[in-house]
Amino acid sequence: MSMITLALSKGRIFDETVPLLAAAGITVLEDPEKSRKLILPTNQSDVRVVLVRATDVPTYVQYGGADLGVAGKDSLIEHGGQGLFRPLDLQIAKCRVSVAVRAGFDYQGAVTQGSRLKVATKYTSIARDFFSAKGVHVDMIKLYGSMELAPLTGLADAIVDLVSTGNTLKANNLVEVEQIMDISSHLVVNQAALKLKQAPLKRIIDAFASAVPQG
Ligand code: AMP
Repeated sequence: MSMITLALSKGRIFDETVPLLAAAGITVLEDPEKSRKLILPTNQSDVRVVLVRATDVPTYVQYGGADLGVAGKDSLIEHGGQGLFRPLDLQIAKCRVSVAVRAGFDYQGAVTQGSRLKVATKYTSIARDFFSAKGVHVDMIKLYGSMELAPLTGLADAIVDLVSTGNTLKANNLVEVEQIMDISSHLVVNQAALKLKQAPLKRIIDAFASAVPQG
């Protein structure tokens, strides 16, 4: 009996994957918000969950540190998706990637005039593709967190970040000026594992598929 390792990130992705695991008869035996453990056992002795940063899920699965994982489309695009089989859009942890600026900043004016735009983001691939398709020249500033601060401190004119309710932008006096793409989380599977552990992986993929709202 070979071990199946599933990579998840804490927070929305973990919470919204729990019901999908239940459909596969899998219960995680510890609460990631309470435990300091990074490897969590499940009720099935041959299935375990590893907790990794959301942006690291594709990397763990690509190199076989996990057999499968749940990753946001944002993380998958930034990673590139090499070595990953992507059988399912799980329709969870939905949000969007947007451009936001300080309230009062004339974004449309800057775009129309062809000004160079300073853009701060964690999502440099998504941002680069978006602005290059628009023909807007950008100076990209890579950040790892608290993107909202960049336009408020003069570090950047605009940010590219995930938006869900819009409350974070509002609380920081920022306005969403463009929606780049809709995001949801996908199931990703290591391609070699898919061959070597075909039966147990197929069972999980099928159970997830049956639990995902279609359409
Ligand atoms: P909100 O205030 O609801 O618009 O949420 C925005 C904040 O939550 C930003 O800091 C985002 O980076 C983060 N966020 C929103 N949706 C997601 C998601 N699906 N996955 C990860 N982070 C998210």
